[in-house]
Amino acid sequence: MLPGVSFLNADHSYEDADVVIYGNTFDHTTCFRPGAREAPNFIRRASYNFEPFMYEHGVNLADLKVHDGGNFDVGVMVDDMIEEAGFYLKQAVKDGKFPIVLGGEHSVTIPAVHAFQDIAVITIDAHLDSRDSYLGAKNSHACVTRRCADHVGIENVIALGVRSISDEEMQMEEVMPFIDSYTIYEKGIEWAVQKALDSVKKENIYLSIDIDGIDPAYAPGTGTPEPFGLTPFDVKKVINMVGERMVGFDVVEVSPPMDNGNTSALAARLVKEALAVWYNNQS
Ligand code: MN
Ligand code: MN
Repeated sequence: MLPGVSFLNADHSYEDADVVIYGNTFDHTTCFRPGAREAPNFIRRASYNFEPFMYEHGVNLADLKVHDGGNFDVGVMVDDMIEEAGFYLKQAVKDGKFPIVLGGEHSVTIPAVHAFQDIAVITIDAHLDSRDSYLGAKNSHACVTRRCADHVGIENVIALGVRSISDEEMQMEEVMPFIDSYTIYEKGIEWAVQKALDSVKKENIYLSIDIDGIDPAYAPGTGTPEPFGLTPFDVKKVINMVGERMVGFDVVEVSPPMDNGNTSALAARLVKEALAVWYNNQS
């Protein structure tokens, strides 16, 4: 584990903590604009911009027991990253802790989801990420929903806000379930999240936020920007509606070299949102 600045108020030991935050700096399958390796520490620094008190939730983050375990020592091979991250995340799940992962590229979701049994996965993403392999890599960031489906079943995965799908993905025998951003724009995010919550067969949900699911006007600092995205308000609503069913959370694909600082700030704020929602759903 590599040391770094801790997330806001994440000052408890692993043993005492109910929530554990890990940085996964891996970005070696990124094809267009790398840089997500720098995101975990940028997101942590951005978290100090915010008040620990979240008045709309009535939650002070200082009251939560959160541990920031630093960054995984991930190396350059995706399979090594999966093994290294999986080691810590499986232990955290076994110890009953709520894990939050700061990416890194989207492949960091693979070991996080594989650390759980009997869950569903909801992603926010501009992309369907459902290829079986991409540029020769099965564990590429472009294959993350397919690798999640291998583990939890395709009926337990759904992507929201998608608007970039390859012809190959639409021709696949099992097309990954998704609700595109155009439909969400027409019908509203609440309709979409309710549909997603009703469609999956498992109660517990891992929520993965690829920051490029949000419109590049709000989240320019990402490797593969795609117009016609969701708003930050939409994603806030997703986190709140998944609510008590949320057992794990990540935010991925922030790329600080492409950013003016606002994308890291948004990612940090979404982590805060997940913390407050998780806390209010305990007991
Ligand atoms: Mn993705
Ligand atoms: Mn994406």
